[in-house]
Amino acid sequence: MKNIIIFGAPGSGKGTYSDEIVKRYDMGHISTGDVLRGEIKNGTELGKLAKGYIDNGQLIPDELMIDILANTYDAQEPGKGVIFDGFPRTIAQAEALKAMLAKRGHDMGVMIELIVDEETLLSRLLKRAIEQGRDDDNEETIKKRFAVYHSQTEPLSKWFEAEGIRYAFTWKGSKDVMLGEIFDFLDGLK
Ligand code: AMP
Repeated sequence: MKNIIIFGAPGSGKGTYSDEIVKRYDMGHISTGDVLRGEIKNGTELGKLAKGYIDNGQLIPDELMIDILANTYDAQEPGKGVIFDGFPRTIAQAEALKAMLAKRGHDMGVMIELIVDEETLLSRLLKRAIEQGRDDDNEETIKKRFAVYHSQTEPLSKWFEAEGIRYAFTWKGSKDVMLGEIFDFLDGLK
């Protein structure tokens, strides 16, 4: 499978759909949020730095994120497509991703945008706060993450559109329906 960038607001289902896509197409999976949470759990210097940003609903600085991403990408099993989940989140990250892949003779593949109304996003994140206990899933931090998403990440949608690789899927109330539409699209690419 080609590389896939999964894109959407906090709570749009990037992690959930990535897991399903990885299973079906046997791909690599890079979740930058998971990488950072792993660093925090292991008490590394990077983790200590990242925690301050994450708990505050802010993005980790681009330069740092771009290095982390390149190292994680190079550690993937070669020859398989990779799904990028949670990266890029800024135009600078998108440009760096494109350049990093080009340097290796690879490309971005396709971008899948998950479009979900804000009321559904909020209720999902509050439910996840109870079920998974993520520190950044409280109402105050969620509001900051939405604001950061709208100001820094959402403009990327047009950037991918201009690259000619953006494919959008809109939530209509059912995970199975959304997943079916995504699988139909990806099956057609093979
Ligand atoms: P996520 O699990 O993707 O929702 O990410 C959780 C948090 O990790 C975000 O709110 C950011 O603070 C941080 N983070 C994850 N990916 C990135 C990224 N690509 N750039 C900057 N910060 C990130």
